[in-house]
Amino acid sequence: MTTTDYEAIPAVAADDAGRRAGTVVMKFGGTSVGDPEKLKSVARRLVAARESGARVVAVVSAMGSTTDDLLDLARQVSPRPEPRELDMLISVGERISCALAAMAIYDLGHEAISLTGSQAGIVTDTVHGKAKIVDVRARRIHEALDQDKIVLVAGFQGVSADSFDVTTLGRGGSDTTAVALAAAVGAGVCEIYTDVDGVYTADPRLVAAARKLELLSFEEMLEMASSGARVMATRAIEVARSHNVRLHVRSTFNDADGTWIREEDEKMLEKALISGVVHQREETVYRVSGARAAQLFGALADANVNVDTILRTGGEIVFSAPVEDRPDAESALDALGVDWAARDDLGKVSLVGAGMKSHPGVAAKTFATLEAAGIDAPVVSTSPIKIACHVPSVDVDRAVRALHEAFDLA
Ligand code: ASP
Ligand code: MG
Repeated sequence: MTTTDYEAIPAVAADDAGRRAGTVVMKFGGTSVGDPEKLKSVARRLVAARESGARVVAVVSAMGSTTDDLLDLARQVSPRPEPRELDMLISVGERISCALAAMAIYDLGHEAISLTGSQAGIVTDTVHGKAKIVDVRARRIHEALDQDKIVLVAGFQGVSADSFDVTTLGRGGSDTTAVALAAAVGAGVCEIYTDVDGVYTADPRLVAAARKLELLSFEEMLEMASSGARVMATRAIEVARSHNVRLHVRSTFNDADGTWIREEDEKMLEKALISGVVHQREETVYRVSGARAAQLFGALADANVNVDTILRTGGEIVFSAPVEDRPDAESALDALGVDWAARDDLGKVSLVGAGMKSHPGVAAKTFATLEAAGIDAPVVSTSPIKIACHVPSVDVDRAVRALHEAFDLA
């Protein structure tokens, strides 16, 4: 994981530390601001936080399916929309939510200001559609907070320092905006408000007995997010980890405590071996022959393909990558002129847990469980806290249920 591109974020000024300890960044996802009523209730939540004495920075996503609708609109006009113009278009969704939330806050008798990513000082590189934040120049945010305003920042977007163009951060990018801002303003916590109560031991829609987790380490959450848990964007967790920003993933629709995510400590290592089973129904698996590994993965990196599992056997290289990266991967492979094939009938089931580090036998139990269920796992990869099995997409649900039960996660 590269985190170096992020080092430019300024630390909190020491003389301000006391005062800013009371700063909170609250991020609301698309379903949380899905309609005008929900937006108004988000405004009430922000006002309540302000009235409790906190300095409030809010990051909001686009309302409901706005981003998808905008992407759809672009494709109706152009088969391959010019990336710069696409970013101009899809950055609009978050601006709408911000402005509306600010209006609602005024009606509740408080002052607010909505800012675009650029106005908020979110500086990025120039990779349209997948930009990375390289700096946060939070002067305007601090000024507004000093004037007692609730600051609303349009998520998912920034401005390129080189081209001065509007950029977007990739799907789910509002999470990254929120965490980057929390790091930049020295917020005590970055609260991620969403339509679920927190992070679960498995997708509750698949496993009725799934449990909400109280506490996770950054590493666990990172593995879970990159293995298919959709509750937070992977990039955002990387930023949280490298800047030690505590996260609280919780529901927009109630006041219950959600899942806390922070630096690993003793308490986390004492708990269960496995924290959760995550899955993704599809991941493209490529098989390449006649390629030099360095050249192949160099080309994929240049094409911004997010490679996951890699296996090398004999003259063959097998790797997996997200379905949405397929067009980029295909162009890169074609340009290299190597022999390649892709299959899209596999999904992935991953067991994640910090306790795995010091306990042998997790792999054995995983294989035994899948075997007993008659599920084939042609590609398996591990990290110190994860075992990921590629299994046929049609068997993903069964594999999740079997493993959740075998490891007693209920
Ligand atoms: N609206 C953007 C998306 O749908 C960003 C976000 O919601 O975080 O991906
Ligand atoms: Mg999201």
